[in-house]
Amino acid sequence: MNILVINSGSSSLKYKLFDMDKKVPVVSGIAERIGFDGSFIKHENGEKTVINIELPDHKVALQEVLKLLMDPKLGAIKSLDEIDAVGHRILHGQEVFTESVILDKEKVETLKGFIEMGPLHMPANIGGIEACFSLMPNVPQVGAFDTAFHATIPPKAHLYALPYDLYERYRIRRYGFHGTSHKYVANRAAEFLGRSPEGLKMITLHLGNGSSMAAVKDGKCIDTTMGFTPLEGLIMGTRCGDMDPAIVPYIGKKLDMTPDEVDALMNKESGLKGFSGLSNDMRDIQKARSEGHKLAQLVYEMFIYRIVKYVGAYTAALGGLDCMVFTAGIGENDYEARRDICRELGFLGVKIDEELNDGLRGKECRLSTPDSKVEVLLIPTDEELSIALDTFNLVKKA
Ligand code: AMP
Repeated sequence: MNILVINSGSSSLKYKLFDMDKKVPVVSGIAERIGFDGSFIKHENGEKTVINIELPDHKVALQEVLKLLMDPKLGAIKSLDEIDAVGHRILHGQEVFTESVILDKEKVETLKGFIEMGPLHMPANIGGIEACFSLMPNVPQVGAFDTAFHATIPPKAHLYALPYDLYERYRIRRYGFHGTSHKYVANRAAEFLGRSPEGLKMITLHLGNGSSMAAVKDGKCIDTTMGFTPLEGLIMGTRCGDMDPAIVPYIGKKLDMTPDEVDALMNKESGLKGFSGLSNDMRDIQKARSEGHKLAQLVYEMFIYRIVKYVGAYTAALGGLDCMVFTAGIGENDYEARRDICRELGFLGVKIDEELNDGLRGKECRLSTPDSKVEVLLIPTDEELSIALDTFNLVKKA
């Protein structure tokens, strides 16, 4: 079975065509600068090719991607009939879609009602789905939601102590994001340990440009750091994460900024980049602090501290801790950050093999020593494979 996974961003469209017998992508790529001058497709089929091409919208981008998939030299299939299903990454399922679903026109209409909750991503996600419906009307389309894995978080953890009426009228609550990643690495970690998810108390740390953590008990998420939007929680590349919400009107008044402007400041001009004044990329922060840059050093310490604090909180929420999983750009590659987080958690009995950890990048493995009280794993995330697996399972049942 061949499954195409589509991840549409506001001006990009990532794609991977999976051969589900082998569970590997046969071709993949990304169309970038959709709707702008200078658009192009970076395509990979063992070899990398860049195609400069006008891509005025997502439908045209998808048409060009489908042509590439069927290209005798660059592609992997002869006709679109060889695509058995398409899996779409969707940012928000609100409280309606709590697991992956087979999409139809009615469900797409429901999704349009959630645009306000993800104004950057949702129109692109929906555009990608509609383009597939019109270009491949007979191929089943599946939606996999970034919020879905967090649907099991109980009310005491997903509600905010605002007037309850605001929840009832506007569904203001914690949704959480990066769900496909947390779900994938949590399941993979249980497999790696040769254990059933039942009975496992786990914390998954998705540390990338956007970062979040999830507390997972018996394979189900019971809490996560991101909230109503992906701004809450950890310090990220350009996002501030947790802070006193009263700072928002205070900044607005002091700097004469509108709520939207303060929102942009917290989302795009804060975090590693805003605090250090340097960069959103942890590699730059690491280099700068090694050269004695004070704010880079401080923001790194703040980044680590926030994570350690949440591990403590989630260990309490889980009633113990069996396993921690590092994933995403920083979690998979930044061995210094992994080492510093684990050192701070020595009081919980966390102990990693620092020699093994040192220099280790992107390789699935156990970092903890045999006498560590907590298993510490590095599991590279694969959101597209997670979506492909959900799509495969749903289509097989249908
Ligand atoms: P992601 O959002 O998961 O793609 O992660 C991207 C981020 O991972 C980058 O912005 C960097 O901050 C971080 N990253 C990637 N490689 C490294 C590395 N070798 N050391 C430190 N951080 C890294």
